[in-house]
Amino acid sequence: MKIKGIAASDGISVAKVYKLISPTIIINEDLTTDKGEEIVKLDEAFLKASKEIEKIKEKTLINLDEEHAMIFDAHLQILNDPEIRRQVLEEIDNKSYNAAFAYSNVTETFAMIFEAMDNEYMRERAMDVRDVSRRVLCHLLGEKMSDPTLIDEEVIVVANDLTPSDTAQLDKKYVKGFITNIGGRTSHSAIMARSLEIPAVVGTGDVLQKVNEGDIIILDGINGEAIVNPNKELIAEYKKINDEFTKQKEVWSKFKDKKTTTLDDVEVELAANIGSPDDLEGVLNNGAEGIGLYRTEFLYMNNSDFPTENEQFEAYKKVLDAMGDKKVVIRTLDIGGDKELNYLEMPKEMNPFLGHRALRLCLDKTDLFKTQLRALIRASEFGNLHVMFPMVATIEELRSAKALLKECEEELTKENVSFGDYKVGIMVEIPAVAILADQFAKEVDFFSIGTNDLIQYTFAADRMNEKVSYLYQPYNPSILRLIKMVIDASHKEGIWTGMCGEMAGDQIAAPILLGLGLDEFSMSATSILRTRHLFSDLSKNDMEKLAQEAVNLATNEEVKNLVKSNLKK
Ligand code: PEP
Ligand code: MG
Repeated sequence: MKIKGIAASDGISVAKVYKLISPTIIINEDLTTDKGEEIVKLDEAFLKASKEIEKIKEKTLINLDEEHAMIFDAHLQILNDPEIRRQVLEEIDNKSYNAAFAYSNVTETFAMIFEAMDNEYMRERAMDVRDVSRRVLCHLLGEKMSDPTLIDEEVIVVANDLTPSDTAQLDKKYVKGFITNIGGRTSHSAIMARSLEIPAVVGTGDVLQKVNEGDIIILDGINGEAIVNPNKELIAEYKKINDEFTKQKEVWSKFKDKKTTTLDDVEVELAANIGSPDDLEGVLNNGAEGIGLYRTEFLYMNNSDFPTENEQFEAYKKVLDAMGDKKVVIRTLDIGGDKELNYLEMPKEMNPFLGHRALRLCLDKTDLFKTQLRALIRASEFGNLHVMFPMVATIEELRSAKALLKECEEELTKENVSFGDYKVGIMVEIPAVAILADQFAKEVDFFSIGTNDLIQYTFAADRMNEKVSYLYQPYNPSILRLIKMVIDASHKEGIWTGMCGEMAGDQIAAPILLGLGLDEFSMSATSILRTRHLFSDLSKNDMEKLAQEAVNLATNEEVKNLVKSNLKK
């Protein structure tokens, strides 16, 4: 059986299916006639849950750090809480409740008490109680509770969707790739798969329903396909394709320490997108000439509370230190859309991608925003910092954000805290900004085009919805014209334009972008060497003509064919 989806991360893997599913917990309220048996069941479930939590804690300690591992100490405390146990036993004994019903009753009461407290820290404990409760209930009800941190053999993870934090928990040693029902090439789990260098196919619609736990699967992240229970011949065929791909990568790797130059000796900059300082190794191994986008929201997402000014300062400093005098673009918090914070209540919105998110939220919650801005300004001493605001829609928003930066600078000066120079720029990801780029260019030091969002907003097509993924049309002349407007407007004001959306590393788009005069291309670190290889074979002069032709075509497909036929020559 062949399953089609969207190619999200290159490479081919063959491994067993591991289904990552949220269990459905249905508790029957039948009374028990054997209280002793219920208590035995309860103790068995406690023991299993306790072993699992210990294991997760151990893994977290190895893969992340002590601070994250401490969360599981809290889980063990909840699991072993004598008061919870006493009340559960009482309900079994006095009311003849079955173990699951009694345990869920008691833990829910505790969770509600925590939730009603004034103290934010205590309110968050409600989530931990519910988490532990689910684990125990799964064991009581014989439901599988999948947990990516518990994987300890080679598998391909199959899920409805993977949140960015699920993806962060995948251990590359065992997880050989993933396939999801929903999502598109620019959903954040896809972007992270490329950083982790594991093959991925997303947006299949129904892979989770079609495969069984333990099925063998070929995951073809190059063509966006998966083959379930293939025969030996097919596995051999795919091994060949994978060998070819490995050979290709060897050719690209020769470009690691080279500058990015075209056939006619024009230099351009190839930078990397990162989500955390942990990605630095990949950045350096792939010869990036800078960091074009540091998505700081992952620092917030991988935490159980807002990271403090010092925690942020340390993370930013680490990246700046590692990059020496190379440019580092750090984007301020871009939360919302498919990125949520467990500890920040964000009211459900009809259209989260169009909602109260990113800079909009930061301008509303200025305390939160200023903590980040202060950390950034303090880090400016340690490298070539460029601060970038996401989701800017109007000049007023930009001015407000810049005013807050000024305010933070003044506060730090008063506190005798030293800081260095830094640049300020914006993401161009809302069409309104691309159209008004000439005005914005007068008020910033640089632009970086966020095509993941620019394309979704231009085509009014949710980037997470596979049903409209055909509208992710990076080569469509409408997008090319917007990009051209932005680049031309920036050059007129003497500032540079980069691109940090996935389009920058797209091998069909990159030649046109070169021709349109894009100054910096920022992409998943794993796309850098192949792009440097590609550019070494192109003349900028020829690409200018090609781009001119492309912007005057009518469709995405026509542009694609134009580039393909030119690259063959
Ligand atoms: C973009 O929108 O193109 C972008 C780079 O930001 P993100 O993918 O994080 O929204
Ligand atoms: Mg964006």
